[in-house]
Amino acid sequence: MLDVKDINVYYGAIHAVKDISFHVDEGEVVTLIGANGAGKSTILKTVSGLLRSRTGSVTFLESNIGGVPAHKIISRGLAQVPEGRAVFLQMTVEENLEMGGFTRPGSEIDPGLEKVYDLFPRLKERRRQIAGTLSGGEQQMLAMGRALMSKPRLLMLDEPSMGLAPILVEQIFDIIRTMHQAGTTILLVEQNAQMALSVADRGYVLETGRIVTTGTGADLLEDESVKKAYLGG
Ligand code: ATP
Repeated sequence: MLDVKDINVYYGAIHAVKDISFHVDEGEVVTLIGANGAGKSTILKTVSGLLRSRTGSVTFLESNIGGVPAHKIISRGLAQVPEGRAVFLQMTVEENLEMGGFTRPGSEIDPGLEKVYDLFPRLKERRRQIAGTLSGGEQQMLAMGRALMSKPRLLMLDEPSMGLAPILVEQIFDIIRTMHQAGTTILLVEQNAQMALSVADRGYVLETGRIVTTGTGADLLEDESVKKAYLGG
C-alpha cells in the first residue's frame, strides 16, 4: 500500500532522514520507533506531503506521491494525526470532525460522524464542547476521529501517547487495536516502544535518521538491543 524507497530529507544543512526505505501492506499496523530526534516525525511529514525528500520515492496505492501537495494526498486516502494533536481549539468537537471530512461529499458527513461517535462515545457526549477545553486524552481522540472523517485507507499517527497518563495511553492503544480490527491500515510513530510493538505487526527501529533494526512486533519486543535501548531492560 505504501512503499518508501531511499528517501533523504534535510532541514537546511541538517540531514534528518538518511536513506530510509520501508513499506506498509494493506491491513497492517507498522510502527516506527526511536528516541527523540531520530527522524520519525520527519518521515511522516514527508509521506503526507508536508516536507519534500531530496532523493528516492514515496509510492501510495501504486502512484508516486512525491511532490504532491498535502491536501491532494489526503484526498487519495492518506490521513495524518499530527504530533501534539493540533485540534482547532476554538471550534467545537463536532466542527473539528466536520473539518476532517472536508474531502468527502456532504452526504457522507453525518454517517461519518456516527461512525466516529461509535468508536469514541466520549466525543459524542462532548460534541458541543469547545475543543480547547478538552483534556489531553480527549483531544487525542478528537484528532484521531477528525482523521477518520476523511475515510483514510492509511492512517498515520504521530506519537498518540505523548503527554498522556498511563490509563489513557492504554485507552488510546485499545482504540488503535479496534481500528485495526475494523480493517484500517496504520503507520504508528511512537517513543513508547513497549505499547507500539505490542500492537504492531511489524516495526522499524530508527537511530539518528537511519533504520537500524526491523522485524515483527513480537520479535522486536524480545530483541536484546531493543530491550536495552527502548524497553528499560
Ligand atoms: P521526537 O520524538 O522528538 O518528535 P522525531 O524522531 O520525530 O523526534 P524529528 O522531529 O523528525 O524526530 O527530527 C529529526 C531531526 O531533525 C532532529 O535532529 C531535529 O532537531 C531536526 N528537525 C526537526 N524539525 C526541524 C526543523 N523544522 N528545522 C530544523 N531541524 C529540524
